[in-house]
Amino acid sequence: MRTVICEQAELSVQERPVPEPGPGQVLIEVSRCGICGSDLHARHHADRLADVTAEMGYDGAIRSDQAVTLGHEFSGTIVEHGPRSRRFSPAGTPVTVFPLLREGSAVHLTGLSAHAPGGYAEYVLAEESLAFPVPNGLSSDTAALTEPMAVAWHAVRRGEVGRRDVAVVIGCGPVGLAVICMLKAHGVRHVIASDLSPGRRALAVRCGADMVVDPREQSPFTGGHGHLTDAPSMLRLAVDGMDRLRRIPLLPWSEVYRTAERLGATTPKRPVIFECVGVPGMIDQVITGAPIYSRVVVVGVCMEDDRIRPMMAINKELDLRFVLGYTPLEFRDTLAMLAEGKVDPTPLITATVGLDEVADAFSALGDPESHAKILIDPKRREPGL
Ligand SMILES: [Zn+2]
Repeated sequence: MRTVICEQAELSVQERPVPEPGPGQVLIEVSRCGICGSDLHARHHADRLADVTAEMGYDGAIRSDQAVTLGHEFSGTIVEHGPRSRRFSPAGTPVTVFPLLREGSAVHLTGLSAHAPGGYAEYVLAEESLAFPVPNGLSSDTAALTEPMAVAWHAVRRGEVGRRDVAVVIGCGPVGLAVICMLKAHGVRHVIASDLSPGRRALAVRCGADMVVDPREQSPFTGGHGHLTDAPSMLRLAVDGMDRLRRIPLLPWSEVYRTAERLGATTPKRPVIFECVGVPGMIDQVITGAPIYSRVVVVGVCMEDDRIRPMMAINKELDLRFVLGYTPLEFRDTLAMLAEGKVDPTPLITATVGLDEVADAFSALGDPESHAKILIDPKRREPGL
């Protein structure tokens, strides 16, 4: 079969034998595979990523001196079952895959490990239990976006965003756009998106953002939503609040305060901010710009060492959360949302290429004006860029 191999940061199309499904596995003929920002990172920063996961006890992540087939966002069709499989989906079933693969007793990250070749190929292996049938009629393009949309759905859930909360999305690359889609699908009324690129701001509007800003001209955090933005207002609030409580006759102020606290009346209004850029300096920039008490969800994957000023986050009592991946249930729910039309990620797709054009697609993704998500169709021979 034909496959794109990444080795020493070079991408080339090579011939490899079609893999054989092991026990409990299925062989999938790939229909579409998305190019993820993680793939771009893995090509150039593979060893940094592998060093960090090795510190956590996993030494199977992609390294630059290995020949690895990337691709963890794919849809396809089951063509063969391995031994002892349960065959709950027959051959011919269209599926999308939660990208983890067993090898002996170890589990590897499909498309990000030399032990589990990914979807930049005509065929790929999957665990039968992690191959999710694509409901009737959903296109293979959209089905391939289940994985990145599940990442966004997980981030939204980890952010515990309420429908009345203000959500601010910093960075409108594929990750930020997916988060915008999922926030709107979740019913969040005020979604503010920020990006330097006019092209990406236009895509954010298509994904449902209620307001887009160019951060060079306007802060995404000043929207008059009753958020505390500076230290003097925070200090004044404390003193004014006590003044008012002390004026209440008959009842001890502490009882009134306790009741108000129980009813949630003392919880300050704060936005939920999604950092979707993932370059050094971004987290500190968000911490510095964020209103007091904000919740910050770090979704962008920064591959380098970074500096933050804890004192700024401490002074604002920020809530900083990091997210990775999704659960199998979130993956399943995302696929259902796509199939039911509750969320439409098609504005993200800006091109479809064949295997021969993958290296060019990686270069093209460097320009935020022209591309967001590029899909690979392994059968395609005509140019797609
Ligand atoms: Zn990804």
